[in-house]
Amino acid sequence: MPQILDGARVRDDIKAELKPRVAALAAAGRPPGLVVVLVGHNPASEIYVRNKIKACEDLGIYSETLRPPQSVTTGELLETIGQLNSRPEIDGILVQLPLPPQIDGKGVLQAVSPEKDVDGIHPCNAGRLVAGLPGPRACTPAGIIEILKRYQVPIAGRRAVVVGRSDIVGKPVALLLLHQHATVTICHSKTPDLAAVCREAEILVAAMGRPAMITGDFIRPGATVVDVGTTRVENREEIARIFRNSTEKLAVFDKRGGVLVDVHPLDVVEKAGAYTPVPGGVGPLTIAMLMVNTVASAERRCGRC
Ligand code: NAP
Repeated sequence: MPQILDGARVRDDIKAELKPRVAALAAAGRPPGLVVVLVGHNPASEIYVRNKIKACEDLGIYSETLRPPQSVTTGELLETIGQLNSRPEIDGILVQLPLPPQIDGKGVLQAVSPEKDVDGIHPCNAGRLVAGLPGPRACTPAGIIEILKRYQVPIAGRRAVVVGRSDIVGKPVALLLLHQHATVTICHSKTPDLAAVCREAEILVAAMGRPAMITGDFIRPGATVVDVGTTRVENREEIARIFRNSTEKLAVFDKRGGVLVDVHPLDVVEKAGAYTPVPGGVGPLTIAMLMVNTVASAERRCGRC
């Protein structure tokens, strides 16, 4: 059986390490502060934001959620971000994605002060990542490196393949792996013979949002497989096909109304040496790294006050 890389366990360890740092800031009269901007009522975003706020509460981080309506304009959001940028007690600003189509998303994200960009996706911070300079790293990619390190998965000298080239997952995780001295290939929807490229990977990161697309053919025996995908599958027949009529998985589907999968959940168990499960793999780490970035931002900003 492959080793399961337990994201929830790593999250708990990270939170335990953060607690004294938050306590020290609070004792100095200045607990870290995070504001989440949640536009409209996207059900998935509501859950993500709830989990982020709960993580803040667990740690003693001050948090606020602003809820502009779905009809908000880019100008209004820019004004909100401007106000948050100038509030001294706020160390982190997170604009929950996706934003409604009328919004200039890139413009809004770029309006967040780079020093309060706890998502690590502002172009200044992306540039710092490219240059190998310190700065907040994108949370999901940082979480992936964290779980690999904490499970002592060797990265230096290894062949890593990242499927997906988004600004928030694929590109930054590829750069982080590169900085850890992996030999990295980035794949995307135009990559020919994707399975053959993936089979070269000793570390395979799947971040495409295509349920169960990474089947056994894509996995080198013994590889470490990191499944970032969180696609909600609503169709019971598709679930039955993916899970080969597993009564256990179908029971979960019937209970929850959907299952989250990206790497084929049965094939990965047969082929991989280690893997992150979904749920309970990368997801919890994304929130943990958001907390790390928020606390680090507070420490940096307090040091300067
Ligand atoms: P995205 O912006 O939609 O990017 C998807 C990437 O996958 C693109 O680069 C796309 O290639 C590539 N791709 C799509 N279909 C492909 C195919 N058939 N073959 C090869 N490459 C393909 O998504 P994202 O924001 O990076 O997120 C990826 C997945 O991770 C989603 O399921 C998302 O929900 C999940 N996610 C999870 C967490 C977490 O905390 N667990 C955090 C963030 C994201 P092109 O560039 O050529 O279109």
